[in-house]
Amino acid sequence: MRADLFIDGEWHRPAATIPVTDPATGEVVGHAADGTEQDVARAVAAAARAFPDWAARGYAERAALLGALADRLRDRRDELVATVVAEVGCPVTVTRESQVDVAIDVVRYYADLAAHRSPVREVGASLVHEVPAGVVAAITPWNYPLYQLAAKVAPALAAGCTVVAKPAELTPLSTCLFAEAVAEAGLPPGVVNVVLGRGQVVGAALASHPGVDVVSFTGSTTVGRAVMARAAESVKRVCLELGGKSASVVLPGADLVTAVRATVASATLNSGQTCSAWTRLLVPAAQHDAAVECAAEAMAAVVVGDPHDPATENGPLVSAAQRDRVESFVARARARGARVIGHGRVLPPRGHFTSPVVVAGAGEDWEIAQEEVFGPVLVVLPYRDEDEALRIANGTRYGLHGAVWGEPERALAFAARMRTGQVDVNGPSFSLDAPFGGFGQSGIGRELGEEGLREYTETVAVQGVLG
Ligand code: NAD
Repeated sequence: MRADLFIDGEWHRPAATIPVTDPATGEVVGHAADGTEQDVARAVAAAARAFPDWAARGYAERAALLGALADRLRDRRDELVATVVAEVGCPVTVTRESQVDVAIDVVRYYADLAAHRSPVREVGASLVHEVPAGVVAAITPWNYPLYQLAAKVAPALAAGCTVVAKPAELTPLSTCLFAEAVAEAGLPPGVVNVVLGRGQVVGAALASHPGVDVVSFTGSTTVGRAVMARAAESVKRVCLELGGKSASVVLPGADLVTAVRATVASATLNSGQTCSAWTRLLVPAAQHDAAVECAAEAMAAVVVGDPHDPATENGPLVSAAQRDRVESFVARARARGARVIGHGRVLPPRGHFTSPVVVAGAGEDWEIAQEEVFGPVLVVLPYRDEDEALRIANGTRYGLHGAVWGEPERALAFAARMRTGQVDVNGPSFSLDAPFGGFGQSGIGRELGEEGLREYTETVAVQGVLG
């Protein structure tokens, strides 16, 4: 597949391309544009030209076009699934549900939210108008490329903004299919533009471009910090969805087996390349050994293999560099004295596969228990009492997503004390209505729900002598 630049409603052949490889085989599956600063300038200019008309259309008209976009994406569902499997290496069953269907649902969700939305409300003696913020740069990572694109583009378009999207170098193909659906749905030229290319070139140019009003970035905390610094030069709004090291806390009396199995499932979703994954399992000290044994059993049962096989639960990691990074975290924990369970299983001969593992015996302040590994690695940590559990759960620089297991009233009380953007109580739960985002270095701002739309609006308060 060729992935070109999509600017002002037209496809443009780039001067140079970057090969896209399948992480399961190492084979080249596409060639994507290696965009330049000039491409960014052209795309931002197109988005700025398209903005006044798109902003003036009002919520109902934009909602209808977003609905058409959701329909066109639905028509291309199988192609989108095949493309995400090929570029991410995410197993087909997981891809269908957690990469593609959820992306289409997000577009539909914002079409519905916008359909009946009023842009004006009365606050005291003022009329407060909700107006689109302007041109949005949407910079996305490789782990859920279509969903993360949709979670930015759909609310931005609903709000009346125009967009320049920049996907990760490793996974540009699904973003181009999204752009094809945008054109088929009849969105005006320039409302959505796509500039493929390198982060340090295209991403950096978007973050600092004075014609961009909002940068919505999902990716690593390190790059998020750089994006924020660049955006500061022209004082633009920055929304950051960054890393996580989320805790799953089993309170005394909880159903240990259910909690541990669900935590392993979360830690290994998309081979652990999920920002919201529960990667630290906190258990009462008396149940530590039983929890480790149960986690090791559940981890051993994770089916690793060909992502095209519907039975596969974990495919490869996205790249050799990512696999090496994950394995070096595990090796350092082991060298420091941690017990690594599940290491060294027989893996497919080609591709960037790694063994899903449980790490026991690590200190709560060790690197493996503090840093985002972004691979199928679950760290089990014991605690003495609830206060200590809370201190450990809140004791990282992140705060994205947590879990609590136990008697409902006690679990809800514990959840309310966690410094994290979302908490699931007694089971995983995902809702497009629920704002998603982080405390601390997990980011700034929220995606999804009503809050997700407001990231792309400004308010104008109008008052005075009106009679
Ligand atoms: P990354 O930070 O390396 O890259 C993310 C995007 O930023 C890519 O499009 C990349 O090309 C671009 N980029 C790189 N350097 C840039 C620069 N200097 N200026 C502007 N843009 C630049 O992240 P990744 O490796 O693609 O993704 C994995 C990370 O994303 C993990 O840390 C994960 O936790 C995080 N993530 C967070 C969320 C969330 O919602 N909080 C969701 C998914 C992933």
